[in-house]
Amino acid sequence: MTRRAPLVLAALPLALALVACSAADGGTGDGTGDDGVRVLASFYPLQYVAEQVGGDLVSVDNLTPPSAEPHDLELAPAQVRAVGDADVVVFQSGFQPAVDEAVAARAPQHVVDAAEVVALEAEPGSVGHAGETAEEHAEHADDDAADSHDHGSLDPHFWLDPTLLVPVAHEVAAQLGAADPDNAATYTANAENLDATLQDLDTEYAAALEACQGETLVTSHAAFGYLAERYGLSQVGISALDPEAEPSPARLREIGAVVVDNDVRTIFTETLTSPKVAETLAGDLGVTTAVLDPLEGLSTELSASGADYISIMDDNLAAITEGLGCA
Ligand SMILES: [Zn+2]
Repeated sequence: MTRRAPLVLAALPLALALVACSAADGGTGDGTGDDGVRVLASFYPLQYVAEQVGGDLVSVDNLTPPSAEPHDLELAPAQVRAVGDADVVVFQSGFQPAVDEAVAARAPQHVVDAAEVVALEAEPGSVGHAGETAEEHAEHADDDAADSHDHGSLDPHFWLDPTLLVPVAHEVAAQLGAADPDNAATYTANAENLDATLQDLDTEYAAALEACQGETLVTSHAAFGYLAERYGLSQVGISALDPEAEPSPARLREIGAVVVDNDVRTIFTETLTSPKVAETLAGDLGVTTAVLDPLEGLSTELSASGADYISIMDDNLAAITEGLGCA
């Protein structure tokens, strides 16, 4: 529990800001306050979609503080109240239990649940364990529960396949239009624009990664499965789906075998989580490391520098083509 305390404290200024905000416009919830329609997103990619679709007509707050890792988010009481006060809440059930509880308890008027809009998969883009067949993998899948392989649960990281954000954008437009019918046409048009931007990004990825088909993407935690699946790569995550889970020595040996067998030259570390395990492993195996951003949060520095989902996805693409040696 102690390691979570700083996260809760970090969330307090945001929570206070949210309280001030709802007091200022009388908390009428009719979407006509000074800030326009008040949208609450539960983590960065959903915030990005809400900002793009809402434009100037909405104010978007994020339940996950900048630079915090969203998987084990805890909410301050004021944040739980803010969930009930928001005009539209955009979240993903099954990813952040505290947010699921707040949505259930506060029953906001308009809700977009990304997990209901996107068909999530258990292990997209996965090659399973090193050198074994699917049957062998299934045989000992039960054992894996002990080393946090998260079998049976769905991979939440859909936003790293840009095409999967498209249906979320359209659903956000629908809910914004329901909360603020006068501007429904604008939200629909904004969602069409974002749709086109995401399709362009997808085209760019497909073209750049065409030469990388079948390559193995070794990552710190298994956040890039949907990306791998979309563009013909195989992902091997050192820490499965939860970035805080420590990989077992057996898992590290498996990763080592994958690296050797597939001539992997780069192990990808991540922003927001410690690169220590991945760097140590890369050092032992004599391969390099490079940084990928799983876009689970956007640091204050990055957002001040004008970075957003698209620019970071572009940076990720450059790192992947360079690291896989198919640039
Ligand atoms: Zn993650």
